[in-house]
Amino acid sequence: MLYQTLNGETFTLSAAILELTYLIAAIFFVVGLKFLSHPETAKKGNLWAASGMILAMVTTLFLHESGEGEKITLTNGIIVVLTILIAAVVGWVVARKVKMTAMPQLVSLFNATGGIASALVALMEYPAVSTAGILIVTLLGLTIGSISFSGSLIAYGKLDGKVGDIFSPVMKYVNIILLVVVLGLLVYLASMGSDTASALIYGLFVISLVYGVLFVMPIGGADMPVVISLLNSFTGIAAAMAGFIYGNQAMILGGIFVGAAGSILTVLMCKAMNRSLINVIIGAFGGGASAAQSEGGTIKEISVSDAAILMNYSQRVVITPGYGLAVAKAQHAVRELDQMLEGNGVEVKYAIHPVAGRMPGHMNVLLAEAEVPYDKLLKMEDVNPQLPNTDVVLVIGANDTVNPAAKEDPGSPIYGMPIVEANEAKNVIVMKRGMGKGYSGIENQLFLQDKTRMLFGNAKDSVQKILEEIKNM
Ligand code: NDP
Repeated sequence: MLYQTLNGETFTLSAAILELTYLIAAIFFVVGLKFLSHPETAKKGNLWAASGMILAMVTTLFLHESGEGEKITLTNGIIVVLTILIAAVVGWVVARKVKMTAMPQLVSLFNATGGIASALVALMEYPAVSTAGILIVTLLGLTIGSISFSGSLIAYGKLDGKVGDIFSPVMKYVNIILLVVVLGLLVYLASMGSDTASALIYGLFVISLVYGVLFVMPIGGADMPVVISLLNSFTGIAAAMAGFIYGNQAMILGGIFVGAAGSILTVLMCKAMNRSLINVIIGAFGGGASAAQSEGGTIKEISVSDAAILMNYSQRVVITPGYGLAVAKAQHAVRELDQMLEGNGVEVKYAIHPVAGRMPGHMNVLLAEAEVPYDKLLKMEDVNPQLPNTDVVLVIGANDTVNPAAKEDPGSPIYGMPIVEANEAKNVIVMKRGMGKGYSGIENQLFLQDKTRMLFGNAKDSVQKILEEIKNM
């Protein structure tokens, strides 16, 4: 049965219910995003967003009608359901198996799949495009999705240590030229109009893939988080474009939310890394530069018992965790140490660097998992002014995020990146296994300063030994 809108357009009951469920799904996405903004409610947020997606998928399967009013055929329905089931099992197994420290790699892979899905939708629908507006979103979806796909695969390879940095000053110019070619081809195809499909579309697809590779390839060192976040926003935008092609509100809104969240995170990351966004888009920045040279100084170790005494008789201790905390899975032991010190009258806070670890919010997630009260986690900019009055900064598996070279050495690849200014505290204890470098692969003068003492070993073991020592005091 057909119904009519006030301006005379006809629609079926199925179509009306489908649009309504898309709206409900979008509300689920918004509620999910709201919950995701806080580590304590993030799990709930994921469930809300996933429920919205399931609702949109199931109702599409049963209620979607083609322009001619035909429902999805049984064969196509079975193919779709089987594909979803296989993908869900693969996703479930991979997500269960992945180590917490390899989570950014997984995010990059998921990002790549989103990018290629949107690009393929655009590639397949291109010959059937009927209006100029849809032609533009199809071309944009193809370009952005392809860049996001190949760029995310390279980001995955780099994070996993499978792809090294290939840096040459020439690449910056190659990337600019490639970007101009991609944009030129896109404008040319758009200007040809919607009634002429061209084989050049495959050229745009391939060049966009190549640009994705070359754009991420030279980026190394401390700048990778910005790129991951930028590619994430690309995938969201590409998905929104695919949504426009089908006029599917759930896809459009879901894509816009991912695109917006990724873009906001990119801007925040840029600020945290002190990089301009244009630098990120053009590529060939960061990494590659020579490591800061050691300027002398000696490494001074501290015994477990001395470290325990120093902290237990302090008034204020600030713990600044980094990637090593995640590797050692030391968060629960750290929480215990925090409780024990507080029980003995020591004020304990945490200094959280925005890019500590290997993914945005990595430290917040780990500490929330160990039930560290959220109000003890201080942002870098809030904690830094308090550090000169702090008796001990306990650096646990952090390196780049406390490296004074970022402030003091203009030749350093991380120069300009804001840091947790651990070197301003009265005493610094650094827990790490040896003199291994951080993600950016450069030396850290903090470890050689007079006020710094090194406690070598796996972070979890070191924290547990200190706990034992304090218990026996
Ligand atoms: P770093 O990567 O700079 O350093 C981590 C340190 O942890 C290493 O020097 C290592 O030294 C030590 N470590 C490793 N395992 C253990 C262990 N089991 N016990 C004790 N120590 C250990 O960490 P930060 O968190 O300070 O900095 C993060 C870096 O990663 C930044 O450069 C950031 O830009 C980059 N990055 C961040 C992303 C994000 O989104 N957060 C994403 C991608 C990159 P040793 O081997 O001697 O033990």
